[in-house]
Amino acid sequence: MAPPKAKPGVLQITPYAGSEVGSGGADRIVISSNESAFGPSWRAMEAYSATSEEMHRYPEIDARSLRLALAEHHGLEVERIICGCGSDQLIDLIALAYAGPDDETVYSEHGFTMYPIATRGVGATPVAAPETDLTADVDAILDRVNARTKIVFIANPNNPTGSYLGNDALRRLHAGLPEDVLLVLDAAYAEYVVAPDYDPGIALVREASNVIMTRTFSKIYALASLRIGWAYGPPEIIEILDRVRPPFNVSTPAIAAGIAALDDTEHTARSRDLNAELLPWFVSEVEAMGLTVNPSVGNFVIIRFDPESDRHAEAAYQFLFERGIVTRRVAGYGLPDWVRMSIGTRAEMEDVVGALRAFVEGT
Ligand SMILES: *Cc1c(COP(=O)(O)O)cnc(C)c1O
Repeated sequence: MAPPKAKPGVLQITPYAGSEVGSGGADRIVISSNESAFGPSWRAMEAYSATSEEMHRYPEIDARSLRLALAEHHGLEVERIICGCGSDQLIDLIALAYAGPDDETVYSEHGFTMYPIATRGVGATPVAAPETDLTADVDAILDRVNARTKIVFIANPNNPTGSYLGNDALRRLHAGLPEDVLLVLDAAYAEYVVAPDYDPGIALVREASNVIMTRTFSKIYALASLRIGWAYGPPEIIEILDRVRPPFNVSTPAIAAGIAALDDTEHTARSRDLNAELLPWFVSEVEAMGLTVNPSVGNFVIIRFDPESDRHAEAAYQFLFERGIVTRRVAGYGLPDWVRMSIGTRAEMEDVVGALRAFVEGT
């Protein structure tokens, strides 16, 4: 007898790869996972701690109080909101409920890797649409939609490229899709975007029957370890996702911290403003070294290193790592010559600029 064999789709999954953070203590500069360098609101930390005596109790079955807080904060309807153990879980649930063997999903070439992983996990086939200038290409995506297509995933802005589709392009994408194809707008970085033509998709969700927007507390709210995501969609789709959602999937401390974080609008605004100030400064410093930086509207950038020289991407990654700076290689995203760096604090980014300059100048 042969040992148990996993489903064919699962065997095709390339596991999600993060950066090794390594040891070396608190003085490491970790800019590998797009976490907020400015940390969570102290009110979120207090709310989290205050729940410690409830550990023996199950959390709310459906994160109702967090959903109510999200509805109030964003002016949305609570029955159109579902919470997940990270938005990654919501991506999984969407794939589980809407795609299966013989189905396809479409995502953009350098899109977030959870889309092909979730797709293969349910036995469906992920189809990558080529990008133009490291930006999702609406026509290329629409070209790959056919009778087997069940879902189109788009991260807006996209990780790792940092590029985004403006509202007009997003609406053109939606207008070109058959009504039975679900459009997933992953707006994990929405709160950082200051571009005037950007829209995370709330209006489109309201107008259409086939659009769902996902969001997260892992980025600007700086609650990555608590694993909280949420989605806003048509009530019929939320009801379907609720059938496959594990009960109690958001913990009590996560719910409490999430509500407090939403409430601390000053902290969120400060984090956004700091990023809006540090991102262009960092980009100009790096460009002054002769390196190419892809324009980004998020809290991270990708930087290109010349594969023909000995100062290629892997060399840059290693050089920085040895100096206590943890970045992310993005070869798994089809970008072998680029390294992704999140925007840390000013002091951290000054160190990163110094180290990068030393790398480029070979000192
Ligand atoms: C970080 C990120 C998420 C967030 O995932 P969580 O599971 O909520 O932590 C989702 N989508 C993209 C594109 C991301 O970069």
